[in-house]
Amino acid sequence: MTPEQFFRPDILAASAYHVPAFEGPIKLDAMENPYPWPAEMVDAWLDHLRRARPNRYPDPQAPALKAALRRFAAIPDRAELLLGNGSDEIILILLTALVGQPDAKVMAPEPTFVMYREIARWLDIPFVGVPLRADFGLDPDAMLAAVERHRPRIVFIAYPNNPTGNLFDADVIEAVIARTPGLVVVDEAYAPFAQASFMERLDDHGNLLILRTLSKLGLAGLRLGYLVGAPAWLTQFDKLRLPYNINILTQLSTEFALRHEAVFRRQTDEIRRQRETLFQELGRIPGVEVFPSAANFLLFRVADAGTVFQRLKEQGILIKNLDPAGGLLRNCLRVTVGTPSENQRFLSALRTILGS
Ligand SMILES: *Cc1c(COP(=O)(O)O)cnc(C)c1O
Repeated sequence: MTPEQFFRPDILAASAYHVPAFEGPIKLDAMENPYPWPAEMVDAWLDHLRRARPNRYPDPQAPALKAALRRFAAIPDRAELLLGNGSDEIILILLTALVGQPDAKVMAPEPTFVMYREIARWLDIPFVGVPLRADFGLDPDAMLAAVERHRPRIVFIAYPNNPTGNLFDADVIEAVIARTPGLVVVDEAYAPFAQASFMERLDDHGNLLILRTLSKLGLAGLRLGYLVGAPAWLTQFDKLRLPYNINILTQLSTEFALRHEAVFRRQTDEIRRQRETLFQELGRIPGVEVFPSAANFLLFRVADAGTVFQRLKEQGILIKNLDPAGGLLRNCLRVTVGTPSENQRFLSALRTILGS
């Protein structure tokens, strides 16, 4: 049997998740925290790792890390926690629960984080995308009508949304939670920058789950995501988790990092300040329409995104071109907030390209 005979036609037709090879000095495409750890923290971390025993399997429940996360994220006592190798893996776990349920559908407003649709496609679970309004807000009528019509098992709502950066109207999300027969997963990947969360509303809704990650906080390389919700739901999802999905180095390193919470709070506060500066400066460039953001990136629209993207890249500055997605994202680009000097170099290159 050849690979062409082996795989489903839609898998053969798909392209692999593309992470561009890039050697340039300024990488502003993936919402990473640009700041390294202080040198004495690196020393203490390496010392901490001496207790790792690589010959043993990691603790499948990671109790020390879970306790640290409970403190860090102010997780309600009654809620349970499930850890994933990034929140991507948790999306896979959530959707795996729907495999073999022929009437189960997944829903999300679009444009949004592409992995919801992507993983649903892998698993052959019908996915319903509900278009956002032109201002990237949730369309309450369209969302509620789609909920009535499709009766989704899982609705994903990124809050703030990626790639648009905005926080949806919380009242509309509440209405979606109230009307959805299945679960609503509020994905708070950008919580460190948002100053808004549904965590405190967990107790109000039996069908609400909160998805978080440490990636955007500054630990993207360690791969740790977590799901928070009622124990009755999480005990079942936990059966679909690979037992040793969080390796010992990630357990020790993330638990260590959370002890130095203040370092990350300083960094994310600085990123939020820089986001405001970058927003103001982008708004002053003729030919740029920039959109408000509660995350660590900004979405902006130009006349010809493909050319701007390419010319920035030639100058060693990588951002994300969203134009290929089309629709509301036509001619849109997404830039991650970097250090002040990275942001200035990006801005000055952009001004030159746009001739202002
Ligand atoms: C980046 C991102 C994720 C994935 O985060 P990982 O934990 O690194 O897998 C999930 N959801 C949204 C909305 C994101 O932007």
